Formats: sequence, C-alpha cells, structure tokens
Amino acid sequence: RVAVVGAGVSGLAATKCCLDEGLEPTCFEQSQDIGGLWRYTEHIEARRPSLYPSLISNTSKEMSAFSDFPFPEHFPVFLPNALLLDYLRRYAEHFSLREHIRFGSTVVSIREHPDFATTGQWSVVTEAGGKQTSHVFDAVMVCSGNFSEPSLPLQSFPGIERFRGQYFHSRQYKHPDVFQGKRVLVVGMGNSGVDIAVEASRVAAKVTISTTRGAWLLSRVFEHGYPWDMILNTRLMSLIKTNLPGPLSWWLMNYKVNQWFNHENYGLQPEKSWLVREPLLNDDLPSYILTGRITIKPGVKEFKDNSVLFHNCPEEEPIDIIVFCTGYIVSFPFLEESVVRVENKHASLYKYVFPTHLQKPTLAVLGLIRPFGAIMPVAEMQARWVSRVFKGLCQLPPQSVMEKEVNEKKKKQVQWFGLTFDEVLKTEWLVYLDTLASFIGAKPSVLGLLCTDPWLALTIFFGPCSPYQFRLGGPGRWEGARQAILTQWDRVLKPTRTRVPAGCSSSF
Ligand code: NAP
Repeated sequence: RVAVVGAGVSGLAATKCCLDEGLEPTCFEQSQDIGGLWRYTEHIEARRPSLYPSLISNTSKEMSAFSDFPFPEHFPVFLPNALLLDYLRRYAEHFSLREHIRFGSTVVSIREHPDFATTGQWSVVTEAGGKQTSHVFDAVMVCSGNFSEPSLPLQSFPGIERFRGQYFHSRQYKHPDVFQGKRVLVVGMGNSGVDIAVEASRVAAKVTISTTRGAWLLSRVFEHGYPWDMILNTRLMSLIKTNLPGPLSWWLMNYKVNQWFNHENYGLQPEKSWLVREPLLNDDLPSYILTGRITIKPGVKEFKDNSVLFHNCPEEEPIDIIVFCTGYIVSFPFLEESVVRVENKHASLYKYVFPTHLQKPTLAVLGLIRPFGAIMPVAEMQARWVSRVFKGLCQLPPQSVMEKEVNEKKKKQVQWFGLTFDEVLKTEWLVYLDTLASFIGAKPSVLGLLCTDPWLALTIFFGPCSPYQFRLGGPGRWEGARQAILTQWDRVLKPTRTRVPAGCSSSF
C-alpha cells in the first residue's frame, strides 16, 4: 500500500506507475480536483500553486508527454495551461486513476511507524472535512510540488519599507490590468518575471526588469521554426555536450544562444557561464527590448518612497508598482526534518529522489528537480524507478555510496554555480532520464537497434529524445512506442500546417 501525496503531474504518474507494478496506491489530494500546478483558478488558494491565465508550457508536447500517452495530434505544439490540464484529465481517465484519489484530503503528517526498522512502514495522518484519520502505508511517494510557497526575501531589498507604491509576489499575478498606465518594476528574471514583464508592457507606461545575474534567453521557435527542445534535447547533442572539453562546450553553447541575438547588446548576458542558471524561454522579450517597451537593469540597490536605485547606476528610476518574481521555497510541512532536510532550498536526495539515511527505502520525493527539459517525463521516470524499488525489484546502493554521490554533487555544483535552488537541482535532462531508465532496464540500446531496426535507431539517435523511447523495451514496454516515435514530427506539424497550397502534397 503506497500513499501518494498530491494529484498533480508527479502524483498522477506515481499512481499510474504503482498500478503498473501491482502496488496499491492511495493518492491524497487536498483540493477537489487533479492537475496541481496546471489547474488554473482565478482565486489564489492557500498552499496551492497559482498560475496566471496566459501561461503556456515552455516545453513542446512531444517532449512533455508521458511515455505511453502522446498528446492528441491536434493540440498545439506548446500548450496553454488549460490544454495541459485537459491532457492530464485524459491521462487520469485513460488509466482509471481517479478511483485511487481521495479528494479534499490533506496530508498533515508522515512519520516512521514504530516498527519502521523492520517493516519500513509509515504512519500517515490525513485531514478531510475537519476530521483527522490515521493510516499505515508500506511506502510513500511525496508529489506535493514546489511552487506553492512564495519566496519574498524583502530583507534583501533595503528601503522596501519606505516604498509608497504597491508591491506583490508573482504568485499573486493574474491579469495585466493592474499595470494600466503604471511604471512597473519586475524584480527577478526567471520565466515568471519575463512573462509578466512582457504582459505588463502592453498596458503599462514603462516596464523595467531588474536582474542580478542575467540569463540566456531561448525562443520556443528554434532553428528552422522547430520547437527548441526537439532540436536541443537529442542523443547526439547530449553526447556532444557531455563529451566536449568544458571550454569548447561552453563556446558552442555561447555561440548557439547568441545566434538569435547578442545577449550582451540586450543587457541580458549572464554574469558567469552557460551553466549558471536555468535558461529563459520567451519569444517576445528581445523585440520588446528593441522597441523600448522593456528595459533591463542590474540588481536593486535600494528603494525610495517612489523610486528605485540600481547597482552601478547613478540615476533613480521612478516606479509605481513592483512585482517580485523571486521564485519559491521548497518545503514539506508534513515531514520531519530528519527525513527530508531542505537546506538553502536544496534537499539532499539520492538521484533527487531518495533520502540517503533511511533504514528502508520506502519514501521518495518526486519532481524536485529542474532539468533543462520537460519535467513530466522526468517525474514519470522517477515514479517508474521508485515503484520498482518499493516492490523490491530494484536495489539502492549502500547508504555510504549514496551519501558520497550526493555530497560530491553538492560540492561540485557549489563550486561551479553557487548554491541556489535552480542550480543545485539542475542536471542534464537526457543523462538523468537515461540513468534512471538503466536502473529499471528501460534504456533504449541504439547499437542494438541498429542491427534490428536501423531506421528507428537513427531516429532515436539523431532525432528528439521523445519519452516514448523509454517504452520500447523492458518493464512497462508499450506496443505503440515505435509508432509514436516515428510519427512524432507528424503530430508537431499537424496543428501548424493548416494551409496546404494547391499543388503541394498534404501529407507530412
Ligand atoms: P525562479 O526561476 O526561481 O526565478 C526567481 C528569480 O528571482 C531568480 O532567478 C533571481 O533572478 C530572483 N531572485 C531570487 N532571490 C532573489 C533575491 N534574494 N534578491 C534578488 N533577486 C532574487 O522563479 P520563477 O520565475 O517564478 O519560476 C519558477 C519555475 O517555474 C521555474 O522552473 C520556471 O521555469 C517555471 N516557470 C515556467 C513557466 C512556463 O512554463 N511558461 C512560466 C513561469 C515559470 P535574477 O538572478 O535575475 O535577479
């Protein structure tokens, strides 16, 4: 019996993977519906993520799909949040997941059962309708997400208490009308910051983004108009990225990202290297900078009554409204610190999933990772691995080995990137997927396929690493995987090639 906390992307994948392995999942969802982050509500609900209605996925549908459930071919290539939720509903329906979900049930505590050392069981307390219930589970998958608790580090912004205009965190943002005719400052250049600045600039008098570190910016529309992740996340590219000597790989990336526009000329150039932080995805920002709608400034030095001073800039800039797009805090209020300790926004977990020190590997955290690629197949792969570990079909290495790996990773990343959430949890998307897939025996063998199915092998190696690759063989093999891989570009072109001039073939 497995308790799954949350019915968002990770929780749905976890429930499905438990069922695939013959485990008995009970998914506790505090709200009345599935979808987690992707379920837009006009009102901001406590302890739930909050989206702005215009949010569109940053990863393409072919790269974001669960590995045995492609998106419908008529869906657009990048998904408005409502369609992503629609897909999750279809997934839940198709695999009959709803009957395993208890809606309106909040998990309030998860503690080791008194005989944990022998059974690995957990005592789980849930609350529904004001009534608490205790349960015992053999294992737990924590899928509660990490975008519910805003990080608003006001202490980092001297003078904010004097500021007489309005300010709020990006979690509170819904519609751009609040910016009508105002001078807006967006603090923090993550994806939320850029999205909100672009929307604000359509109605505001002036929009400024303040960024301490800068960032590389990519367009969803990549080379030859193809989705960025279908071009960049290929096995060939991954091989190049991971095998080229560091400086050469850095140069190559630098060259690639500056092909669209020169980041230095637009004030966006990251302070350190390519690896510093999660790149941004936005199609409008460069043209909005070019047309003067948005200005990029360095970090905030100080706020005054009606203005802001930036580092290395002598002039004060008048502002009326500030949006702090300063990200989120990771927390697990229902877990004891001794089980999962979050330090400096970082949890020390083996492969970002398992606490290293438990006597039994019966608790796992899913989705606490920011790879440079779609999160859905990653959460699903974690769930496939975890359910096999719970079942005893996969073993974890000894504690000392796991601890060593976690500590080395931490040291290396601190040294390279500085210890902040997005850097620490960043990892090469394809390498990570392949690693977990190899644990469960689902990693495709390109060389093997070259002998038996050369066309498929070449498609897998040179083409996008769509998640269906991990269903070609091994446990959870899906009959439709080969066909899904060979038709992935058809599903990309279907919603865009909607006008075929006379005389051109209508087939893709
Ligand atoms: P984020 O990526 O964590 O970015 C927060 C930014 O706030 C930092 O990068 C930093 O920007 C700034 N910041 C943080 N602490 C600060 C401090 N103490 N002082 C000054 N600045 C500080 O947060 P987010 O943009 O809300 O994004 C959260 C996640 O959601 C990300 O994974 C993002 O990709 C995702 N997201 C996706 C979409 C989409 O799919 N369309 C849209 C929005 C968000 P600077 O270094 O620039 O100062």
